[in-house]
Amino acid sequence: MAMTKVFFSDLKSGRCSAVVEARLLRFWEARNVKRGGELMWADLLLVDVNGTIMQASISSNRLPRYQEQLIAGTMFSISGFDVARCAQNFRLTDSSLHIRFSETTSFKELSDPVSPLPTEAFRFRNQSELHGLANTNSHLPDIIGEILGVRSTVTDPPEAKNRVMVTIRLDSDDTVTLSLFDSQAVAFHMQLESMRDDPKVIVATSINPKLVGGRLFLNATSGTHVYFDKQTDAGSARFYQLVARDTGLPSAAPLLRSYAKVEKMTIAELSNFVVTAASQEIDFLCTGKVVRVEAEKGWCYVACSKCSKKLQRSSSALVCGRCDNSHAIGTLRYRVETVISDDSGEGTFVWFDGVMTKLHSLRASEAVQMLGEEGVNPEDSMVPPFITEMEGNTYTFQVRVTAYNFTEHHKTFTITRVDKDHGRLPNDDVDDNG
Ligand SMILES: [Zn+2]
Repeated sequence: MAMTKVFFSDLKSGRCSAVVEARLLRFWEARNVKRGGELMWADLLLVDVNGTIMQASISSNRLPRYQEQLIAGTMFSISGFDVARCAQNFRLTDSSLHIRFSETTSFKELSDPVSPLPTEAFRFRNQSELHGLANTNSHLPDIIGEILGVRSTVTDPPEAKNRVMVTIRLDSDDTVTLSLFDSQAVAFHMQLESMRDDPKVIVATSINPKLVGGRLFLNATSGTHVYFDKQTDAGSARFYQLVARDTGLPSAAPLLRSYAKVEKMTIAELSNFVVTAASQEIDFLCTGKVVRVEAEKGWCYVACSKCSKKLQRSSSALVCGRCDNSHAIGTLRYRVETVISDDSGEGTFVWFDGVMTKLHSLRASEAVQMLGEEGVNPEDSMVPPFITEMEGNTYTFQVRVTAYNFTEHHKTFTITRVDKDHGRLPNDDVDDNG
């Protein structure tokens, strides 16, 4: 008995007794990061003859039955599945429904050499639409744009935590940064390295748009697939537009910048990083101008000479809670909070003892002698002029992002190194992304 053929748009919640024909666009595994990456299910995106995209999922226990058939681009007839409502967040399609493979699901490959099923389908959103979707977590749209630069922390051999940041021009003159993380970052980096020529066009699917400090950032999700140039029809069309517009100027520097161990980042990118990336310890290089020394936060503290922790004053002595010592020996250490800004935004950065001593060639204890304030605890003394004079100076400095930065209330960054020559940049070092 032949089953009724229906379209995705005909589906209703419940068991479906009809058959749909569709092409498998993409699929990926959903893993539980909190449970050591345990496989939960596979997500599939399918498109029918009307161009309607439908999400389908196969639970991990049923996956072995279908796994070998999962080849992107293949056409299937599907029947005996369940239809359920989608979660409201992170929607991958415009439909409010999705398909769940059940015990009875039949998933048969169609071998028509000629088929009216579309070969690809995307939900492209332009810059202003992405702005509107940002921070709503409602949809994970697709993007297409011109790829202008790539920065990567991927090393050889790849280490555990990785990130690739792709500068993309969508439809306006503004550029946006697309970030890919961990294994996706490594895959992207490897793919780029293996290509003979740098790609011009990027299509990235199921990305999550975020606004950080008013700027748009795009973050990859587990469903993100990346296609370059003519790998898609959409990309191909954009590719030829760009080629036609080519001015004949010599081509820009290679996209993938020689990846120093420590990557340069703007302050907005840094802020976005701690909001969106997994907690990790990583160093970045920033350049910015000190707009304010936070004088009310003080400039130094009395530290335990053994463990460097801040000491408490009792009536007659200094107490170290960490060393459990009620008569600790104190040494004075710098701790200076500054607000630093660049073109992209601003942030609060803390300069600790080592970096301040090196920058000013002066220990905190020597600075106190210099101030010569009688009868004042050093930590309560005025901020020395050489510190307030940092206001207005531009520095290139290394920032260490640690697990601490990924907690809700700790948005100060620690400066761990400042370049020689008081951090002022030699001119040939200021380039960024051409
Ligand atoms: Zn101590």
